[in-house]
Amino acid sequence: MVRMLKIINTLSGKKELFKPLFDKVTMYVCGVTPYDRAHIGHGRCYVVFDVLYRMLRFLEYRVIYCRNFTDIDDKLLKKAEHEFGDAQRYPEIAERNIKLFHQDMAALNCFAPDYEPRVTTHIPQIITFIDALIKKGHAYQANGDVYFQVSSFPSYGKLSRQKLDDLRSGVRVDVREDKRDQLDFVLWKGEPEGKFWQSPWGYGRPGWHIECSALAREYLSDQIDLHGGGIDLIFPHHENEIAQSESLYQTAFTRYWVHNGLIMSDKEKMSKSLGNVFALEELFKQFDPMVLRFYFLNHHYRGPIEFSFNDLASVQKSYQRLCNLFSQHVCKNNISKDIDLPIFKQMYAFLCDDLNTAGMIGVLFDHASELRENEQELCAAKMLLTDVLGLTLEPLSEKKIHITPKIQRLIDERNQAREQKNWARADVLREQLRQLGIEVQDEKIE
Ligand SMILES: [Zn+2]
Repeated sequence: MVRMLKIINTLSGKKELFKPLFDKVTMYVCGVTPYDRAHIGHGRCYVVFDVLYRMLRFLEYRVIYCRNFTDIDDKLLKKAEHEFGDAQRYPEIAERNIKLFHQDMAALNCFAPDYEPRVTTHIPQIITFIDALIKKGHAYQANGDVYFQVSSFPSYGKLSRQKLDDLRSGVRVDVREDKRDQLDFVLWKGEPEGKFWQSPWGYGRPGWHIECSALAREYLSDQIDLHGGGIDLIFPHHENEIAQSESLYQTAFTRYWVHNGLIMSDKEKMSKSLGNVFALEELFKQFDPMVLRFYFLNHHYRGPIEFSFNDLASVQKSYQRLCNLFSQHVCKNNISKDIDLPIFKQMYAFLCDDLNTAGMIGVLFDHASELRENEQELCAAKMLLTDVLGLTLEPLSEKKIHITPKIQRLIDERNQAREQKNWARADVLREQLRQLGIEVQDEKIE
């Protein structure tokens, strides 16, 4: 089959034909810091890259997919301190959340990456990497810490298209740090004697950015084909990864940088720190994980999604329609990917055009009645939906709704309003419930 996947490369800002360096595709996606449950933003990111992974496999590439766990970090230490009164018990927090993360990803039908390395089991590789950067003059020690010297890497800022001087003026200066330049970033954080890991620079632990450079090198190569993550990682995280890897290996670190858009709430990024984010676990109580997956894929991966329960509820209805459409036919698994069918080809063309899943789904609904009449088209479409989009298309079970005290109060108030025949009030409460993802169905009041 013709391999014609075009993808927007953040580095060039252009849509480029994807061509791996070798026949085997190397793909790295930044993973989570497992200090808490995965949230909707993680769900979107890893579904997007699961679809990219599946698409490459559909194109019959051999793909090596690596996604890390940042299992040592201030947030983990803080959580362990809070939960156990002992920051050094952070591995227990990480262990628990990694297990739950795997459950959430499996529920979303995401393939497990080929490698899921943890930072804490790769300290020697990280130390070797930092040591080599110091020896090449790209990093320096200062009071037990090690910093990357940004001025030693002239193309710093190329991914986020920022100039060094503009960056300098925007950086907050932390007076406790002994950096030579405010843009320099930490590779190794010094800690008191005996704490964390021993290194040539004394005891300490790695800074955040170095792990991805070291792990990509360890599991993939010094030059990788695809590197993914949310757009919020472009600066500084991915910019720093480039500086570290390219300073050491003198070759373009990543050939195609791919970034997914964020989930927003009232035009603001949903995040843990703003307290406006939903854990996947919570959403799964109200919506089948496949509905959530379908919701993500109804949006182009690069754009933001303004989250609303109303949209999720309407996506649930269209997903159910889709499942019903496909449940009427049993398809044999021997459809050729090169089959010459107009609807299938249109859907496939959208996928090849910067992974436009939303466009592909649009074609599907535009031609639903024709698909019903044409079993070949129907089965070819199903192949794309299951193999590339990763949708199971199993009819949804009646989801048990998780009734919170707030939901119960609204339901009670609404029942009261209906008994009093206060229809206006009942409608207001119905809308409030809908905002929380609850559709109420009324029996007639005599
Ligand atoms: Zn990373």
